[in-house]
Amino acid sequence: MPSSPSAAQTAAFARVSRRAATRVRAGHPWIYRSDLADERPLPRGEVVQVQDERGKALGWALSSSSSQIALRMIADSRAEQIQLASLIAERIRQAVDYRERLGIPEMSNAYRVVFSEADRLPGLIVDRYDGVLAFQVLTQSMDREDVRAAILDTLQERLKPAGIVERVESRIRELEELPPISGGLVRGKKAEAVMEMKTAVGAPALRFIYDGASGQKTGAFLDQRENYAAAARYARGAALDVFCYQGGFALHLARSCPQVSGVDSSRPALEAAERNFDLNRDILAASEIEWMEANAFDLLRDWSDAGRKFGSIVLDPPAFAKTKRSLPTALRGYKELNLRALKMLEPGGILITCSCSHHVSQVEFLEMLGEAARDAHRRIRLLEVRGQSQDHPVVAGIPETAYLKCVIAWAE
Ligand code: SAH
Repeated sequence: MPSSPSAAQTAAFARVSRRAATRVRAGHPWIYRSDLADERPLPRGEVVQVQDERGKALGWALSSSSSQIALRMIADSRAEQIQLASLIAERIRQAVDYRERLGIPEMSNAYRVVFSEADRLPGLIVDRYDGVLAFQVLTQSMDREDVRAAILDTLQERLKPAGIVERVESRIRELEELPPISGGLVRGKKAEAVMEMKTAVGAPALRFIYDGASGQKTGAFLDQRENYAAAARYARGAALDVFCYQGGFALHLARSCPQVSGVDSSRPALEAAERNFDLNRDILAASEIEWMEANAFDLLRDWSDAGRKFGSIVLDPPAFAKTKRSLPTALRGYKELNLRALKMLEPGGILITCSCSHHVSQVEFLEMLGEAARDAHRRIRLLEVRGQSQDHPVVAGIPETAYLKCVIAWAE
């Protein structure tokens, strides 16, 4: 007897350990390979029914034949079957609706449209830079031809981009045993755009160049957009933006600070920052910005020893804790930077300090900041304890979705 279409689609199942079942029931989407309860190999990028040890259905997941994260939940057990391409199209539409409901497109034409697990689209990232969409697939399932077609068609239909570019993380493709690809423009033509970011609805936008063809991993740190606006509300006096990249914070600080110094170790980033400044001379006519190529640790040590003072300082270093094991070293690095910065703040100065390592919890980050303040002999008041912009949703029960910390503090 020929099997029915639903039987063909639901043939694969996987049983998981009790520990994994508990986690899935609590809303966490990941099942590690070590939590698989039987030895059968998983298919490459398929929809698999997930069952607990006794065979009770927990829901549906996307499988990987190679990743340590063997299964990523995509639907709960109420769904009787999954047609993956149409489910993904539906979820993308929901992700777009969500950002529109929150009014994000009114604040910026550059924002994250799809944030992987947080949007129930594990392994898919989509960023919008005005007329350019940049997407990234990180799993076998999202790399399937039918799924790629659904992603591109849905994005085209809902957001009508002039061009869609693919960004490639070669290392992740290797881990997922996916063939190497070069990425770049996959639809349409334009791969350049001007991002616009407002600090309030109706306020004049700051503009930033996005070059989707330049081969950089990302064009901007969109997750900091709301923190730029918050920083602009408090910043005053002479400002210092440490780890400034292409000037995201520096330009926002220049809205209220007459003098801004931006520091980064990457010359191409500073060149882009200067181009971005040029693009906004009309709005920032009253401010001066100087860009400095330097190692932030050396510069902060020299300047704090020399007694230099600032009214506002931003610290936005790269992720120091890439793994849980590197946490103690990472915290020492954060503390060193924050201690130096606090020493350099004038009384009533503003510190805007960030960490994008999800291994560093908010509690640990605040503890580190408290210790830095104590060692710097400064008392600080926490004005705002912030996270990432709302286009990077944080989901209760999935701690990995909350990775960015941004604390704005007043140093007495
Ligand atoms: N604040 C930026 C993002 C910073 S990303 C924004 O909002 O867009 C981290 C930056 O730190 C990168 O631009 C990188 O070039 C820089 N960087 C890394 N190590 C550094 C070091 N030791 N000294 C100075 N800059 C460094």
